[in-house]
Amino acid sequence: MLGPVILAASRSDRMRRLISAAPVTKQVVDRFIPGETVADIVPIIKDLTAKGLELTMDVVGEDITTPEQATAARDAYLALIDHLKDLGLGERVEMSVKLSMFGQALEGGHELALANVRPVVEAAAAIGTTVTLDAEDHTTLDSMFAIHEELRKDFPQTGCVIQAYLFRTEADARRLAESGSRVRLVKGAYKEPAEVAYQQKHEIDKAYVRILRTLMEGEGYPMVGSHDPRLIAIAQELAHKAGRKLDEYEFQMLYGIRGDEHLRLAAEGHRMRVYTAYGTDWYGYFMRRLAEKPANLRFFLRSMVSK
Ligand code: FAD
Repeated sequence: MLGPVILAASRSDRMRRLISAAPVTKQVVDRFIPGETVADIVPIIKDLTAKGLELTMDVVGEDITTPEQATAARDAYLALIDHLKDLGLGERVEMSVKLSMFGQALEGGHELALANVRPVVEAAAAIGTTVTLDAEDHTTLDSMFAIHEELRKDFPQTGCVIQAYLFRTEADARRLAESGSRVRLVKGAYKEPAEVAYQQKHEIDKAYVRILRTLMEGEGYPMVGSHDPRLIAIAQELAHKAGRKLDEYEFQMLYGIRGDEHLRLAAEGHRMRVYTAYGTDWYGYFMRRLAEKPANLRFFLRSMVSK
């Protein structure tokens, strides 16, 4: 019930100003976004990789409103990649990007986002890693898939995300399950209308399994983005049935959620990648994490009241 309300608030400028300025928010935010700068995040990257985990890095930000902000987003990723090169961790750490942060919603946004993301993909490739294009709300996806296809002409490793809650995704998965492709499957985190998306959890979970089967039986590299224990067990079963070895798919989870499970899967020999977000423009990312689990909201509100 609360999820859709929080998701609506995640797109409200007024709520953004209010919550971003709340004095205790930062301490609650840190659970999901454990740093604001590259200097904050480097120790976390070192710690997680030392534990046998891989990472995908998200410099938080989305829905920017000027071309200058899009250029700044590009530069923030380029600076991060420079640091990864110095750390020698290029192969263990990939990037996740939101095209709305690269200017996709501005005038001429499709071309602008492509022009801004290309240097990031090039720089990532130069240090032996890659970029995955996150999936945002359904109105942005045709552009995202077209940019993905364009980037893959030169950088076939470029990944993309598909969302099980959307009706279109089964067809997208069939198209994408080809040799060399890297596809992260998630349930979907945006507020979507009933015309385009399943609304009930059990329907979304069933769609997730159907789509995962397509990816596992296909020729590409599936990235299982979920914390759901039932889906993780099903993923292992489907991978086994499809004859996949442990390095022919991977699990992905978000930093701050089910950390024990990250370590358990890695200890079992799975590739486990932790999606780690950092930066100052954390509002949208944080609100989606609240929407996914009402207990997070209670914790957040309690922290405000107890201050
Ligand atoms: P759920 O059924 O929501 O959760 C299963 C269990 O996981 C819960 O019972 C709880 O124990 C735990 N859990 C889940 N969420 C939380 C939380 N916020 N706080 C505390 N515990 C929690 N969505 C997009 O739309 N586009 C993307 O590009 C995208 N990228 C993602 C990348 C990764 C690596 C992951 C893991 C998720 C991503 N998501 C993305 C979010 C995704 O769509 C879901 O909203 C999110 O993963 C919650 O769904 P779930 O599969 O974990 O299952």
